[in-house]
Amino acid sequence: MTVLNKTFNTPYNTAPFSKIKTEDYLPAFKEGIKKSKAEIDAITANTEAPTFENTIEALDYSGEELDRLSSIFFNLNSAETNDEIQKIAQDVSPLLSDFSNDITLNEDLFKRVKAVYDSKSSLDLTTEQNTLLDKKYKGFSRNGANLPEDKKEKLRAIDKELSQLKLKFGEHILAETNKFEMHLTDESDLSGLPEGAKEAAKQLAESKDKDGWLITLDYPSYIPFMTYADNRALREELSKAFGRKGFQNDELDNQNIVLKIAQLRFERAQLLGYKTHAHFVLEERMAETPEKVTSFLNELLEKAKPAAKDEFEELESFAKELDGIDQLQKWDSGYYAEKLKQKLFDLDDEQLKPYFKLENVINGAFTVAEKLFGLQFEEINTIDKYHDDVLTYKVTDADGELVSIFYADFFPRAGKRNGAWMTSYKPQMIKDGKNERPHISNVCNFTKPTKSKPSLLTFNEVTTLFHEFGHALHGMLANTTYPSISGTSVYWDFVELPSQVLENWCYEKEALELFATHYETGEVIPMELVEKIKASATFHEGMQTLRQLSFGLLDMSWHGIDPSNITNVKSHEVEAFGDTSLYPDVAENCMSTSFSHIFQGGYSSGYYSYKWAEVLDADAFEYFKEEGIFNKIVADKFKTFVLSQGGTDNPMTLYKKFRGQEPKPEALLRRAGLLK
Ligand SMILES: [Zn+2]
Repeated sequence: MTVLNKTFNTPYNTAPFSKIKTEDYLPAFKEGIKKSKAEIDAITANTEAPTFENTIEALDYSGEELDRLSSIFFNLNSAETNDEIQKIAQDVSPLLSDFSNDITLNEDLFKRVKAVYDSKSSLDLTTEQNTLLDKKYKGFSRNGANLPEDKKEKLRAIDKELSQLKLKFGEHILAETNKFEMHLTDESDLSGLPEGAKEAAKQLAESKDKDGWLITLDYPSYIPFMTYADNRALREELSKAFGRKGFQNDELDNQNIVLKIAQLRFERAQLLGYKTHAHFVLEERMAETPEKVTSFLNELLEKAKPAAKDEFEELESFAKELDGIDQLQKWDSGYYAEKLKQKLFDLDDEQLKPYFKLENVINGAFTVAEKLFGLQFEEINTIDKYHDDVLTYKVTDADGELVSIFYADFFPRAGKRNGAWMTSYKPQMIKDGKNERPHISNVCNFTKPTKSKPSLLTFNEVTTLFHEFGHALHGMLANTTYPSISGTSVYWDFVELPSQVLENWCYEKEALELFATHYETGEVIPMELVEKIKASATFHEGMQTLRQLSFGLLDMSWHGIDPSNITNVKSHEVEAFGDTSLYPDVAENCMSTSFSHIFQGGYSSGYYSYKWAEVLDADAFEYFKEEGIFNKIVADKFKTFVLSQGGTDNPMTLYKKFRGQEPKPEALLRRAGLLK
């Protein structure tokens, strides 16, 4: 038996990183799956009548060892991976998905779950237990457990076809992206580009044994060119190439795939008794129904449109004045917006960075958490780390009780993937009367210190740190009984509230004074700079909002109706965009055929949630502002009704308990400068 299958016997039961050998993982997974299966078998073999305790609760507490192992392994596969670990991930993933399918398709288990579910009204369950019961039951029913055999087969056939189509959709986009390159041999064609972007284009050309410069449709190449290149014709060429993906009537075309995916999703939803795919998806979202999502999007549209129009006109006259442009086109938007922003704000990262030394920002986040929630962070060196860069903390409450262990891993390195995220090594739960405290981790890729300079963060990195720390607080302060609804295990359109709301403190004088001091002089960041940060953060907010809303409305137009009558992808799309367009349509371009978020990834009927989360965080923060950003009463309510509750109740109910009312979009519109 490997170290991963035993009791850890470490301080706080933390993961014993130094004792784990790579070759332990595969046998550990096999052993963990075997034990989990035995736990499930024990539930179904129980001769007593199904009860909440012997079925639902037993199911939720099962698989603890396997979950612990999966957390360690997949966290490291993101933060400190290598070829061997990646190979093991490929071997392990099918084992895990087979195991999870075995549970979903286990008819004996479903019979017991259903028996409990059907007797729900006579069980006298707590809210948390009711929520858990619903969740467990839906986990089966939404996968067809209630269907007769022939329909079950149909459902499986649809699922199989959908997964193949999604794969194909993605392959086409990747092939389209890789196929295109813009080869430039005249340096004047790169005029306007920053040195770094030019250098990257040159290196790319060299790597393909070409002279000159190569520009591609990959974001790191595409975005700088569209933002800075002075040559308008080349911007047009690149923009059109980008917009043509999956829309060229060739072997990589995605039009029929889009129609087919929409149709199959609709059929799947109908089979399960839902009106449309969006109804199916939104059943497990705070937004609840497509009608609510659509009216939410349209309400914001109505409010944002006047500002967006003004911004567009301003940009248009700026471009006309600067370069004599008569009709602003899509390929002008990024370019002139950047120039106008420079003119209006004259703000760059280098001015701000000296005020945001990493250690100061971390302490700032900790101080905010202390002032709001009474948390204390003490660095400890008694627990194992998976890399020397990782910082480890013991988090306690005002009474000195352990709240959580916190790992912070801030710098990039070869084995870490891009981006920033929060994760956990151990979930919170109350089991056998004991409140098991969680082990939470933040992983980021911030600017590293050098010999002569400490790590100085860009403002974007500062808000990222607060964002991930907000997720971390959601994990740390969790206080629920059952692990599957603890901490950040909440509805998808609710999970960004704690993270986004915390970002707001980065813009407040009262908070910045606590940590934004110059790393050499100790001077507090001047308010004039803070005002500039705020103003530039809402630059072109009207047009940005319109853009986000247009994607959300396009998503709903595919998934909130019976799509049988849609035959032409492009004309359907033009109609769906209707009220949100400011730029002239480009006939040879199509968004849907490369809209990977909704046709390949997991965002179908979910694109609205970006704006939804913003509305929530702005509305929540406005409550803090009304009472004071460090007001204890508001902070206590946020902790009691949001941060500690996980997914134990409907998020709207939780939110209303915190706020006293449903969230309203006005706070967001005010913050964005869209309410005149
Ligand atoms: Zn987030």
